[in-house]
Amino acid sequence: MSEFDLIRQFFTHPQRHTVLGVGDDAALMQPRPGKVIAVSSDMLVAGRHFFPDTDPYRLGRKTLAVNLSDMAAMGAEPRWVTLSIAIPSANPQWLKPFAQGFFDEAQANDVDWVGGDTTSGPLNMSVTIMGEVSVDQALRRDGAKLGDDIWVSGTIGDAAMGLAVLKNQVRFGSEDQDYCVRRLEQPIARVDLGMQLAGLAHSAIDLSDGLMADLDHILKASGKGADLYFEKLPISAALKNCPYSAQVREVMLGGGDDYELCFTASADSEEAIQKAASYAHTPVTKIGKVVSALGLRVMDANGNQVIVKRSGFDHFAEQLAQQQ
Ligand code: ADP
Ligand code: MG
Repeated sequence: MSEFDLIRQFFTHPQRHTVLGVGDDAALMQPRPGKVIAVSSDMLVAGRHFFPDTDPYRLGRKTLAVNLSDMAAMGAEPRWVTLSIAIPSANPQWLKPFAQGFFDEAQANDVDWVGGDTTSGPLNMSVTIMGEVSVDQALRRDGAKLGDDIWVSGTIGDAAMGLAVLKNQVRFGSEDQDYCVRRLEQPIARVDLGMQLAGLAHSAIDLSDGLMADLDHILKASGKGADLYFEKLPISAALKNCPYSAQVREVMLGGGDDYELCFTASADSEEAIQKAASYAHTPVTKIGKVVSALGLRVMDANGNQVIVKRSGFDHFAEQLAQQQ
């Protein structure tokens, strides 16, 4: 199968709102009046960002979902996407479901797949996504203000626990394990929430590296600090049922891949935030405060600082291995 056959068969789809899509030297896109274009690129490398044997349909969806999440974190409406892909061989049994997953995710979010590049090489995918946002409403990382509430959507830590499951580092209830693996393999970008928060929240980021690491980007960019209340962090039923309490704490504060939104907003906006969340059918939880003292402190219910150890999983993996 030639490169052109591949492009025609798997990568060419009808466009809904694009002047010119796949097939020419460049695509042509027209933003709506008054909007600026938000652009973001992400690369996924086999063995590094995903297991090479991941179900290709799910991987296709996730490849786009993690990019949609960047649009959500800017408060932008995703509109166009390109996919550049290196594949070891033109294997239709892999490519067909992968492209279908990518396309289904695009359609579900009204995004036109307007181009890309196809080459042979070690499996990796590079996506560039473009969206529209009003310049004065974009959710930037540097907008957090003193006294802002800190919010997070959904529940956190599930995806990282899913990764620990796949790595055989933990074993618990099979339904709860499956839920965590699903959160890892089938993330849902909070696009509607991001759009609702545009012009309302002061700053936002999506959680790809973990709550503490990602919130720290907001704090550094804004020149502020934060107090987080551990008891308030939204936890899923699956993690509540999970018996490894130290690891649960670790994934909630430090685990990546949840693709929830973390944002800050004026304390006066609480009602408006709740309304925005309910329009977007996405639960949100207030988890802390922006303060002037630099750095990030996590408090327990008694106001004592929580110290997070980062070595829990490795240690745990050894214990599991010894039992086998
Ligand atoms: P060029 O040689 O000008 O780079 P290509 O032969 O690489 O053109 O691509 C031809 C057309 O197919 C272009 O419009 C390009 O955007 C599109 N295309 C190539 N690979 C992909 C892909 N993976 N997904 C979507 N469109 C693609
Ligand atoms: Mg090319």
